[in-house]
This record gives sequence, C-alpha cells and structure tokens, in this order.
Amino acid sequence: MMESMTGQQGSLFGDGAELGAAGEKGAAAGAPASPRARAAELNRLLKVHAYNYYALDDPQVTDAEFDRWVHELRAIEAAHPELAGEDSYTQRVGGYVSEQFEPVTHAARMYSMDDAMDLAELDEWLARTDEALGSTPERPVAYTCELKIDGLGVALTYRDAQFVRAATRGDGTTGENVTANVLTIKDVPHALAPAGLSKVADGGLGLSVEVRGEVYMPKHSFVRLNEDADAAGRDPFANPRNAAAGSLRQKDPKVTAGRDLETFIYAVADEAPLSVDSQWGFLEWLRDCGFSVNPNAARCTSAAEVHEFCASALAHREDLDYDIDGVVVKVDSFASQAALGFTARAPRWAIAFKFPPEEKRTVLRDIRVQVGRTGVLTPVAEFDPVLVAGSTIARATLHNIDEIRRKNVRVGDTIVVHKAGDVIPEVVGPVLELRPAGAAEFHMPEACPSCGSPVIREEGEVAYRCVSIDCPAQATERLIHWGSRNAMDIDGLGDEIVGRMVEQGLLTDVADYYDKLTEGGLADVSTGRQAVTGDDIVVGPVIAKKVMAQVEESKGRGLSRVLFGLGIRHVGANVAGALAGHFGSMQALMCATDEDIAAVDGVGPKIAASVREFFSIDKNVAVVERLREAGVVLEEERKGPELPQSLAGLTFVLTGTLENYSRADAGARLKALGAKVTGSVSKKTSYVVAGEAAGSKLAKAESLGVPVLDEAALERIIATGEAPRA
Ligand code: NAD
Repeated sequence: MMESMTGQQGSLFGDGAELGAAGEKGAAAGAPASPRARAAELNRLLKVHAYNYYALDDPQVTDAEFDRWVHELRAIEAAHPELAGEDSYTQRVGGYVSEQFEPVTHAARMYSMDDAMDLAELDEWLARTDEALGSTPERPVAYTCELKIDGLGVALTYRDAQFVRAATRGDGTTGENVTANVLTIKDVPHALAPAGLSKVADGGLGLSVEVRGEVYMPKHSFVRLNEDADAAGRDPFANPRNAAAGSLRQKDPKVTAGRDLETFIYAVADEAPLSVDSQWGFLEWLRDCGFSVNPNAARCTSAAEVHEFCASALAHREDLDYDIDGVVVKVDSFASQAALGFTARAPRWAIAFKFPPEEKRTVLRDIRVQVGRTGVLTPVAEFDPVLVAGSTIARATLHNIDEIRRKNVRVGDTIVVHKAGDVIPEVVGPVLELRPAGAAEFHMPEACPSCGSPVIREEGEVAYRCVSIDCPAQATERLIHWGSRNAMDIDGLGDEIVGRMVEQGLLTDVADYYDKLTEGGLADVSTGRQAVTGDDIVVGPVIAKKVMAQVEESKGRGLSRVLFGLGIRHVGANVAGALAGHFGSMQALMCATDEDIAAVDGVGPKIAASVREFFSIDKNVAVVERLREAGVVLEEERKGPELPQSLAGLTFVLTGTLENYSRADAGARLKALGAKVTGSVSKKTSYVVAGEAAGSKLAKAESLGVPVLDEAALERIIATGEAPRA
C-alpha cells in the first residue's frame, strides 16, 4: 500500500496524467566513424557543455540533448567496455569547482544519479533491484518516491547541532564553500530543533551531521528576476535552476540575500548516530529538526504504486511553485542501500525517472523576421503568452524557412510549444485539425526589414541574408554581441540601450566603445519618455560609470573573446578559442594564409575562407587597428606547453600609464605567469607597478610599505618570469 506524506493513500495529488514514453527522438548523432571516435567526440561535447552548464550557469544545448549524448556514450561503452576509461564523462559526477570559493572536501562523496528516460527503463531498474534484494510478495522491497527538485545540490554541515558550513556538490569530491551565501537563505535552520534532537541517542546536543538537499528558486521569483534583468538590460537566466545556481555562487552574499532562494533537504552524508533506519523515517526526522522537507513523497511497495506516484507528479508539475524534472525513487531501507552500494558516479539504490519536456498549446499570431549581426534573417514565432516550465514565453525562433516548412506552421495556427530541456522555447508543431481556413503559407521577405536592401540566398544555404554593410540592424546586433557574456562580457549593454546609442549616433562599430563613447555621452542617452511629464528618461551618471568601468575592464579579456566578439561568420566561441590558441596574436592570424587557418584543429576551409574574407575588408581591419590603439589585448597565450606559474601566490596592482603596454595587456601577461592582478592596494599586495602619472595607489603603496616597481622591472619580470626579491 502506498503511504503518502500528505496523509493520503493511493494517488498523491489525485488522479494522474498519462505517462507515455519519454518522447525522446532517439539518438541524434551523426554517423560515427568508429565507436572509439564517436566516444571521443561525445566525451568532448559533454565536457564542453557541462562547463557551460555548471561553471557558467549558461547552458548552450537542451538538457534532453545533453542526456541523449550521455545515453549514447553509455551504450557505446556497454558494447565496448575498453572505451569506458576513468576519464570518461560517464564515470564522473558532473560539476565544477570555481576558484572564487574556498574548496571543501566532502565528508563522503556527493553522487549524481542514474536516470530512466521512460517507464520501461524504470521498470527494468525496479525489477533488477527487487531481485538483488530478494523481494517476495510477502516481504516486498519498499521504495521512497520523492520529487526531483531542479535546483542545485548542496551539503549542510552541523557541528554540535549548530550550522557551520555549506558547500556545493562541485565535482562530487570537492565542492565550493558557500556558507556565507547559504546563511542568507531563510529556511535553513541555524540550529537543529529540539524535536529532532530528542530522537538522537544522547539528546543530540553533540550531534554532528552533514545533510544534503537542493537549493532552488521558486518559479514566481524566477519570473520576477528575469523581468528585472530585462528592464536593466542584463542577460536573463535560462531557467530557475540556472538562476538558483547563479544566485548561490555569488562572491557577495548580499547579492544572494536579494534573491529569493529556498531549500528542500532529503539526504544524509553517511552514518550519523540517528535512530532512523530508512529514508522514509529520515525525512520525518529532517522535518523534526526544522528543515524544509518536500511534503510530496510516498512509500511504495510495488511497481504499480511507483508508476502512480510518477503519473501524479507529472500531472501536478505545473501546480507547484518550483521546477521538478522527474521523480527520484530510492530503496527505503538504509541497510539495503548499504548492501547495494555505489558505482563510480551514482548510488545503485536510487534512480531518477526523468519527465518528458512540458508542452503547451497557444496561438501563433505572427512570424516576424529579425536581422542578426551577420545579416542573417531569422523568422521568429510570436504567440499568445503561455507559462511553460516556470516562465512565460511569447516567442521562439523558427531558425529559417526550411524549418518553417518542415514544421508546417502558419500564422493563425494553434501550435504546441515547449521549452526544450526546460530551457529554450521551441515550437514543436501545429495542431492541424485546428488550422483556420485560409491560413497562408509564410514567405521570407524580399527586402531587409531593417534597411530595405534586397535580400539574397546563397546557393546551398538555408539562410537569407541582408548583405548591406551599413544595415543598422546588423550594427546594433554586432554591438550587443560584442558585450555579451561569452564575448567581452560587458554588463549593462542590453538591446534597448545599445539600440538607442546607435540611433543617437554614439556608436557605429565596436571600436567606438573604446575610442568614442564617453561616460558623459552615455549618461545623457535617452531611453524613453516619462509618461506623465513627457520628460526624457536618461541612462544617468551612476549606470554610465558602471558600464564604462566594465568597458575598460573588457580590454583585457584576450584574443579569443575579441575574435568571437567581432562576429565573423562561422566563428563561434569554440572556433575563436582554437584560432586564438593556435596563432597567439591577431597579427599572426591576419598574416596567415587560408591553408594555415584551415589546418587548425576544428577549423576547415569554409571557416578559413570566412576569416580571410573578414580581414580583406578595409573597414574591418581599421576597426581592429583602433581596438589595438585603444589598448584592447589582441594576444592570447598559445596553447601548448603552459608558461611556468612562477608568479603564483603574488598579487600585483598596476597604476599610471606604461609606455610599452596597456595596463590590461601587462595584467594579462602577469596572469599568464600565475600572478593575481587586482585593482586596489592593500597590505596583501606583493608589488605595485607604477607608470607615468601614478596617483593615489602609488601613495597608498608607499604608506603601507608595499614594494613599487617601474616599467623596466615589469619588463624583466615578464621576460624572466621571476619577481624581484622583497
Ligand atoms: P541529475 O540532475 O540527473 O540527478 C542528480 C541530482 O538530483 C542530485 O545530485 C541532486 O542534487 C538532485 N536531486 C533533486 N531532488 C532530489 C531528491 N529528492 N533526492 C535525491 N536527489 C535529488 O544529475 P546531475 O549530474 O546533477 O545533472 C545532470 C543534469 O544536468 C541532467 O538533467 C542534464 O541534462 C543536465 N545538464 C545539462 C547540461 C546542458 O548543457 N543542458 C549540461 C550538463 C548537465
């Protein structure tokens, strides 16, 4: 009989929805050259995208796609066990430990979880587990079913019943110390409550225990946060999970405090002197201790009851104010859990049943064509706003005309939309039986919607383009792209503000950020009119100062960001990284032949031709020259043997004007040798490098007795990698 936390019996939330297969389209990989080559390619893809997801909180592919790759890799490794090496992605706990935080070694490893993509896989796991534990009709194995909260895994340590530390999962062995940030989360108890302690052998006051759970952001807070981000011109978060991770992993706990985070706790690190012997009892104990424990859980003793819980959770997914991406089924008895143990990355006693992506119906009102920074015309579906997976969506890219034909969507159609992997809004397709009479097929415009120039479609290409160099839409998009997170990462350069600067003649190309835009000019940019008074609303000095400080800081981001930021056709972030790593400097790249460029790993003749084409245009070369003159770093440490980190542990501050380097350039070179470069002088500063007209920082260094170096000394350090003796 199913027992539920809410006291109901049977179905948890009432009658459930249908649970079909997971709706996956099957392994989407291209034809592999060989299992070894495909496994290597999958490992590469998984590692790159895990980095985007865990380190940058900025996924570039859907979870469904990511999971398909994992499954494909597992299938290859099952057939070819010799390929399942220790460094395969299937053998590790996905995660990342940022240097921003102090590392924490977990008391016991924090695992990931194996998943079941449909009911058949779930049943297989249940049957296998029943058999391993000797389940019989008289004494069936009990399972605790819990909602799988789509948040960020954390470990909370209590010593003598007092909260002392919080850490993220990280790579499973080492996490990040986020204690100060977790202290700002209101539902984390600072001390374990007496009701829980009274159930521990010695009254519990000396209890040390590490509990684990999920930090999440409620859906309504996520929607609000992204509305604020839109208004301030910041990049919105992709989903509540990324918003929670981004909010928790902040250097400044005040930022975390301003975000609405909550927790659900559900696990314990290892044996603690508790009187409970099952997951079900443990959840009860956690509640007694004052933790937030999700009320939607059930103890099931048959596959049918587990199915019922899953169906019911799926049916009520939208009613919850937090995102869930599945159901976690755990063997209930701690003794049985111990008997089953762990694989390298996951417990054998638990499985995550993953939901298919959530789908909604709405009406397609228009297909609007946008002009991107490379002149590509992109049709975008605009539909009646609809809440999907925690946020309201009203538009989704349709990519190109072929995609529109393939999906067979027309304006006026009732369409099905979802967020692929709960992240990216996507039109799945039309509901054909609801198509209104007379709904017309869509055609791409013949003239650019931004500048009216004729639109072309090159042979063999799906994209239509506007090739007019002066097309204002392209200028705006290029300028926005330059400031985007993976390019020069300048906060505050949103669509609205950049669009206005272009309109008001302050910006034409990316070099203008550095040699034309001024703080005063930016402060006066008008962003709209007061509804009542009709007065201009301007950016204002405070925001202008912040943005200009970021523009200055962006000079030191290095060649690969610059190359990506320039928006050269076919040069994405990965290709930019490969080119920068291979050539080391803009100059070397500009002098390279087509063959040299095409020979770089991951770059072929098509990309090489596009790079050459870009640099064959005088206007583009002139922009690069202006960037150099403005002090933007156009070099990057070459890949290959790393420079010795001989300056590790030393902190430098650069001040004043140097003759042969911009400050950003000098900073980048010191960092390449392992040094830290900061903006303010303190007792911890190892050296201050002072150029011409150095002011207050020099004075402070002298007053604190911090050694001051001139440019000649800096050059020696860069040349030899050795810092002068103190
Ligand atoms: P997972 O999310 O599949 O499952 C394990 C985690 O579930 C646990 O570590 C725990 O933190 C969490 N969890 C939530 N509720 C729980 C409960 N009640 N009991 C126990 N655990 C609970 O595994 P993962 O390794 O954290 O992440 C993989 C996920 O991240 C996949 O869904 C994958 O698609 C996604 N991902 C996506 C990308 C991308 O680029 N889109 C990249 C990397 C990972």
